[in-house]
Amino acid sequence: MATPASPNAFEQPAWQVAQVLGVQVAVAADVLEAALALKEQGGGQIVTLNAEMTMAALADPALGGAIAAADLVIPDGAGVVWALKRKGYRVRRSPGIELARQLLVEAASRSWRVALVGASPEVMALVSARLKKEIPGLTLQFSVHGYQSPEQWPGIEQQLLEARPDLVLVALGVPRQETWIQRMHVHQPGLWMGVGGSFDVWSGAKQRAPQWMCRLQIEWLYRLVQEPSRWRRMLALPEFAWAVLRRG
Ligand code: UDP
Repeated sequence: MATPASPNAFEQPAWQVAQVLGVQVAVAADVLEAALALKEQGGGQIVTLNAEMTMAALADPALGGAIAAADLVIPDGAGVVWALKRKGYRVRRSPGIELARQLLVEAASRSWRVALVGASPEVMALVSARLKKEIPGLTLQFSVHGYQSPEQWPGIEQQLLEARPDLVLVALGVPRQETWIQRMHVHQPGLWMGVGGSFDVWSGAKQRAPQWMCRLQIEWLYRLVQEPSRWRRMLALPEFAWAVLRRG
């Protein structure tokens, strides 16, 4: 885990670290600034934490370990923001999909090498083409879909490291994307971030919940209607709320 980065020795760190049910999460005035400070410091792993993932981290030591070792864990979820508020931290919700997009825009203006990993072959083809069109100057150094055979991964991983990317966005689903990044980013410069379903949304294959649902904090309901098979995973939401009310 990196020490919260500060732009220089005389300035405040770009974020402070709090805990939700024992899982670390950053309290930052501006998550983009925090991510850029981390890049300046030599890079690291960015995790986007929500209630479901917090409960998964408590049940799965591999995921819990990856989040504990991550360098910047942003509060991506109304539940995590609520839990922080109960502890006296006032933070805004920072959706990972928005930070990832902002980082792509920064990457284009700073001539960073970008790598995209994950999602279906169709989504990856669409998203690569769309991003190049929508973000002028973006250097997509490397892109690979997430449904490779086990024998193909070692070669892909080697090629990715040889590309020395400054920004790697990984859509392999939780917990795989977090544990994969934890293993891959060691001694690597650059920012490595798990982005879940972001490529599906950017490609147009899936929709984000409308703003009014986000405001009412029922984005989870929209996701459930789009993907009913998620219902079992979503039982983690009331479990999270109950655990926070009990344990603080
Ligand atoms: N995914 C992948 N390979 C896999 C499983 C999933 O590339 O073996 C991709 C999937 O296509 C999607 C992304 O991982 O684009 C995130 O999946 P999901 O929405 O289930 O993410 P989560 O909610 O777990 O973050």
